[in-house]
Amino acid sequence: MLMFREKRPAVRTLNDWAISVLNDAGAIKECEEHGWMQDGGDPHARERAFDVARQDPPAGVSPEAAAVAIAEVLDFIGDTCPDCLPEVPSGE
Ligand SMILES: [Zn+2]
Repeated sequence: MLMFREKRPAVRTLNDWAISVLNDAGAIKECEEHGWMQDGGDPHARERAFDVARQDPPAGVSPEAAAVAIAEVLDFIGDTCPDCLPEVPSGE
């Protein structure tokens, strides 16, 4: 898991771009308490983010590569904040 607030590089990476697109589309959201990015669980918001990737990729990046970057970010972002998860009772 990555904490996106940390070690943000000065140069904007494709990953950063994908995160900001997903954020703008409402597909991911940041936990207000812990700062972890979470999947918003909204398929329409994801679709909007992919539309942006295909129609308006960053300079020098193909629409395909931009869409892959979006998919990769979605891949490693969980749908819940790990620090917000309740303790799982054992022996259930
Ligand atoms: Zn949290």
